[in-house]
Amino acid sequence: MDRRRLFLGHVKSLLPTNPLAPKGPHRRHPKMLPDGARERLLETVNAARDRLVVTWLADGGLRIGELCGLHLVDLHLRENAACGECRAPHLNVCHRPGNPNRAEAKTKHRWQIERGTVTGGLIKRVSPAMVHTYFEYVTTEYLGGAGYGMLLVQLYGADTGRPWVPVGARRMLGRAGKRAGLGPVKPHAFRHSFTSAVLDAADGNLLIARDAGGWASAAMVDEVYDLEAEWTEGAIQRITTENTTLKQRVRQLTTDNRTLDERLKAARSNLRFQDRRMADLEAQITNPSQGVQ
Ligand SMILES: [Zn+2]
Repeated sequence: MDRRRLFLGHVKSLLPTNPLAPKGPHRRHPKMLPDGARERLLETVNAARDRLVVTWLADGGLRIGELCGLHLVDLHLRENAACGECRAPHLNVCHRPGNPNRAEAKTKHRWQIERGTVTGGLIKRVSPAMVHTYFEYVTTEYLGGAGYGMLLVQLYGADTGRPWVPVGARRMLGRAGKRAGLGPVKPHAFRHSFTSAVLDAADGNLLIARDAGGWASAAMVDEVYDLEAEWTEGAIQRITTENTTLKQRVRQLTTDNRTLDERLKAARSNLRFQDRRMADLEAQITNPSQGVQ
């Protein structure tokens, strides 16, 4: 019988490696996009800009404010970009409170422009599909942004060429969703789907999700911690229960520890007594005339 294995098996069942890891397959968040929504939206929207929006929300997990707030200098779509912060194509999402379209990134990571290159901000990896839709858009519809240097611009009407306001992007998605038979699609639904997909890929383990190969970036950490704000009532209850259980185990282990401590003390005391007794006996053997008592 392998006692050590038995013991470890016991411990393993007592303490899961990550008690916060969601159990079983990741549940579908009620606000997630329906299956196939991305494809149906891409078929429905008319402009290259709008295909970019759908693709970047889906693949990048960007907030609508982050997306509409992007400047061209924030896009580092080539390998080994000059900022040196991520070898793969990525975005440096910068918090700029003064954008003309009032679009603002929520996260306020420090950033700066050094010799014309943006460094810092929130690093977000981009997919090949994102790069593809970007080139399609800038080569066909992008009108130079009327010197604003921002990525998304108004394509029609009096404001053509001006930076696109987030509410315009929201309305575009809402209309496209209805046309595609998906109901009004909200930009944040893409984030729920994105986070869920990452967690699925990481088997529900937040630490793995954070450290997972392709996602080992500040962006991933951000996405994972963001999720906590979106935990369901059930998940919170489960974690509270697990916390209580763990506290009880800690208490049990503390008691066990005290008992063992007392036993150890007793054993040491016994040992000391036996040591003395042994010394007496040795003295007796070497000097029998003295006798005992
Ligand atoms: Zn960069």
